[in-house]
Amino acid sequence: MRSAKQIRSEFIDFFRDKSHEFVPSSPIVPIGDESLLFANAGMNQFKDIFLGLVSPEYPRAVNSQKCLRVSGKHNDLEQVGRDTYHHTFFEMLGNWSFDDYFKAEAIEWAWELLTKVWQIEPDRLWATVFAGDKADGLPPDGEAAGLWTKVTSMPAERVIAFGKKDNFWEMGETGPCGPCSEIHIDLGPDRCDMQDVPGHECRVNAGCARYIELWNLVFIQYNRHPDGRLLPLSAKYVDTGAGLERIVAVLQNKKSNYDTDLFMPIIDYTAEITGHKYTARLGNKTDNAFRVIADHIRSLVFAITDGATPSNEGRGYVIRRILRRASRFGRELGLHEPFLYKLVPVIVNYLGEAFGEIKERAEHVSTVIESEEVSFGRTLDRGLEIFGTAAKRSKKSKDKTISGEDAFQLYDTYGFPLDLTELMAAERNLKVDTAKFTELMEQQRERARSAQKSDSIMAALTDTELPVTADVHKYHADSCDSKIVGWIDKGGFRSKGFVPTDDEVGLILDKTCFYAEAGGQVGDCGIIESEDARFIVKETIKVANCVVHQGKVAEGSFDAGQNVRIIVSKDRAAIKKNHTATHLLQWALQETLGKSVAQQGSYVGPDYLRFDFTYPKALTAEQLKQVEELVREKIIEDLPVTWAVLPKDKAQQLGAMALFGEKYGSEVRVVAVGAGSDARIEDAFSKEFCGGTHVDKLGSIGGFKIIKEESISAGVRRITALTGQGLNDYLEKASGIVDELSVMLKVPTEDLVERVGQLIKDNKELSKKLKKASRASGSDVMSQARDLLENCEKIGDSSIIVGRLSTASIEHAREAIDMLKKKAKSAAIVLGFDDDGKVTILAGMTNDLIEKGLSAGEVVKNIAPIVDGGGGGRPQMAQAGGKNPGKIDDALIQATEIIKEKLNS
Ligand code: ATP
Ligand code: MG
Repeated sequence: MRSAKQIRSEFIDFFRDKSHEFVPSSPIVPIGDESLLFANAGMNQFKDIFLGLVSPEYPRAVNSQKCLRVSGKHNDLEQVGRDTYHHTFFEMLGNWSFDDYFKAEAIEWAWELLTKVWQIEPDRLWATVFAGDKADGLPPDGEAAGLWTKVTSMPAERVIAFGKKDNFWEMGETGPCGPCSEIHIDLGPDRCDMQDVPGHECRVNAGCARYIELWNLVFIQYNRHPDGRLLPLSAKYVDTGAGLERIVAVLQNKKSNYDTDLFMPIIDYTAEITGHKYTARLGNKTDNAFRVIADHIRSLVFAITDGATPSNEGRGYVIRRILRRASRFGRELGLHEPFLYKLVPVIVNYLGEAFGEIKERAEHVSTVIESEEVSFGRTLDRGLEIFGTAAKRSKKSKDKTISGEDAFQLYDTYGFPLDLTELMAAERNLKVDTAKFTELMEQQRERARSAQKSDSIMAALTDTELPVTADVHKYHADSCDSKIVGWIDKGGFRSKGFVPTDDEVGLILDKTCFYAEAGGQVGDCGIIESEDARFIVKETIKVANCVVHQGKVAEGSFDAGQNVRIIVSKDRAAIKKNHTATHLLQWALQETLGKSVAQQGSYVGPDYLRFDFTYPKALTAEQLKQVEELVREKIIEDLPVTWAVLPKDKAQQLGAMALFGEKYGSEVRVVAVGAGSDARIEDAFSKEFCGGTHVDKLGSIGGFKIIKEESISAGVRRITALTGQGLNDYLEKASGIVDELSVMLKVPTEDLVERVGQLIKDNKELSKKLKKASRASGSDVMSQARDLLENCEKIGDSSIIVGRLSTASIEHAREAIDMLKKKAKSAAIVLGFDDDGKVTILAGMTNDLIEKGLSAGEVVKNIAPIVDGGGGGRPQMAQAGGKNPGKIDDALIQATEIIKEKLNS
């Protein structure tokens, strides 16, 4: 039997033999493409080639692309585990022609590989072609239909035409697209899973599992414009995608992708740690959990390796959702402790050879996954209970729907992504009021929303062929003469007439010394001027090979073709210092913490620098000091900074550090520090792939100080630091504050620390005394409690007395509960108060309610997590402490619900 590894190589070798260049997969987290959260097809990395923005380095390519389909146009999350062939993460094998061969070869070679090399019986295969689309004005693809019977032995009756939904491929709302021809396989009548569906007829694209798509041949000919129009591209491309997991299942003669050597190691290990057996049945809860876990952990390993981290927005939230989903499915197998991180080595073991990056980053990935599992685990069990209560309630309701409020509380307090709640609801045949949920989400977002930067002029850019800007001057000049080639405004690229004066535009010049934002370094600001006109550049960015100077005409007017002088702002000098210091910082961190420290991101601006890197824990004061000292020593040594453009392999041989996951061309620029007078890069102590601007000699950095070290997500630390003038300003300000304090406190500066220490101590004591004095007296608490009783809700004869007290002592609150029990006779009481950030919750039940199944201890135990705490006690009286006073009201609401539920049932 062929292994998956062999099958992947056979695909690549087959096309290599046909003069295709092997191109490694691009990272699953697309760098520099905000229009896409995750790579979802092999073509993503070639998008700019299809758009004509850059020219390809080779006419034909072959690859195996890491894909994640969990968001946007392609989202298969819901399918995972329910069928045998849709995954969130999968490998897409592809062959590519960049204006070289076209439909005939693509079809012929796919056929040759499937039926000759891999020996799949030809009569199991079917082909589909595009039937045309009236609305888009597209004709049927008669050419592809004709070719199938001409260049392969496929009989005409097995070539069928379908409409846009199936046979016109688009990666997203905009971008390159075109008609496609798909190859499907007939897995035999017993694989149909829709026999019970009335009117179902087994055939290609009828939705059942008997026919599945193996390979899609896309003929990229158009670009979908943001306004919906299809614009023809100047050249024709072939873009194919075949799912490795599906091909492997067919060639290994397995009924399911999960039965292949791409998933079984994970499933076996999961079976080992849970003691459950995998029996490969669809629709079986336990088996489904095995499949979902095996699927999701692969996505997590690849996405986190390529730089995604769980968070509450964008990519991070998608990753968090996947992880929490997998964690919840773990509960189905009895896994209550973190376990996903233990699966990381299993995946690294069988995929680490094809994708070396997961091997390199395994430790980081495990740290991130484990810490996320731990934090979710804390609330998961409690959330599952809350879900149970909500589900029970909605079962009784007319429309069998979990309310939007419940779904939102689960999301907000317990971190249950909506799709998780929906999934659990579906398992109980319940619906979720998603409209209400969305409304509540939107309200919350509205509250949190901060002004967002708009990038509007760039939105119109997808279909334009932009000119190339010569921009090497950025490395040696701060000003130069140039010529206006055109500009970009909301309508796209223009090259004739006057530059608009009212709106922001992007000026395009034939050459420039402005640095366009890249590699963490901000784009330059500055001025573009003629004798009587001035344009202020606010930001510089690069689109493909074109540098765009974004800004506004401030004075006079400009005209396409006009000669101008361009001047970079003085900020450039400060940016250079910060950039070189960032390289020194990376080196010093590796010296201090070890080579496993890897860059996760950076910001290099004129005012400060920021460096994010992988490291599992906070740096100690000594480590920070050592890092600072190492950097300062180098600055004092005043070593030279040099750079060279080298072939990528050579640069790697010399040990130059590349940014993880970044895609580089065949030639790279290497920036070296300390190469000596003969500029031998191999002698430099710091060598990085870098396109940024740097100082010539370290001395001009003029000092270095770390002002902050923090965690930005599990396993990732961030250092913020200052150099040059920014550092001077900071020190100046700090010493001003010290002088001022010394005057205020009337002590010499050297005694300041002691004096302030004394003040803090005195203050603490005073406030303790004050608090004691002002703490509500016993009679205050009693009167508040009586108020609560007067206004409380009743069910039958029982009072539900739930509410807040202003600060009280625990003794007083207990006395109040005793009083309330006596007065109300039958009562469920929950009182909460906040004492300087410390939450106390007390509950009491009268005996008749205990007989009805209520318990003070249970109530307290259930609501304590809401205030980040814990507690319990007897059925009559119980107590909890917590750390989150902001959530007291939520906890009390929850207490009321629990009590009512019991009393009503
Ligand atoms: P399907 O209709 O089966 O969902 P698709 O039309 O979405 O497939 P394409 O976008 O054409 O698929 O992707 C190309 C190939 O990638 C498919 O032919 C299939 O082999 C594979 N593929 C697509 N989606 C998945 C997935 N979720 N899991 C595994 N393989 C996939
Ligand atoms: Mg699909």
